[in-house]
Amino acid sequence: MVTIRLAFYLSSGCMGCEMAIVDGLAEVYVELSQHEIVWSAPLFTTSKYSDLESLPDKYIDVAIVEGGINSEENERVVRLLRKKSKKIIALGTCAVHGGIPSLSSFHSVAEIFDEVYGERHPSRQVVVEGKYSLTLPEITPQRAVSSAVKVDHYLPGCPPKVEAIERLISSLDSLKDEWLISGDSVCT
Ligand code: SF4
Repeated sequence: MVTIRLAFYLSSGCMGCEMAIVDGLAEVYVELSQHEIVWSAPLFTTSKYSDLESLPDKYIDVAIVEGGINSEENERVVRLLRKKSKKIIALGTCAVHGGIPSLSSFHSVAEIFDEVYGERHPSRQVVVEGKYSLTLPEITPQRAVSSAVKVDHYLPGCPPKVEAIERLISSLDSLKDEWLISGDSVCT
């Protein structure tokens, strides 16, 4: 079996796709354990953005992205993943089409905040006195991963069937060999 360098990124999603991957792990653990997970957030481990930046371009064979693009940070990470990866797979309906959360794109972010928070929009500045201070990423309307970067394969489903995830993990080496690109669907 060919060892594949893998990355996993949960962009903006509900963790349902992550749970489906975890459900499928029992069946595909042996296959997955023969590959190398070089960057992952937050499934398996929480790697830093700087860890991804430090990888050589196209070092990752396959990056699996779950969830849609819902913030400037999501977009920044998937753009960097595109640079560092030979292939990107959008896994789950949020990643493939934007999913249910993309219904929010019928409204502006300000309108959504008005509806949810009334006049008390949350600040992007978070300060915990004496400990840390940070700026939260700017929220954008939810959209598909392909709106930000080229996607090579799609595995839809909300979440995708566990059997489909097992099939995907089991066929990662042939993905590399056959160089299946152009947005062909891995499982339909
Ligand atoms: Fe959750 Fe469905 Fe989106 Fe996956 S596709 S992150 S299960 S809403």
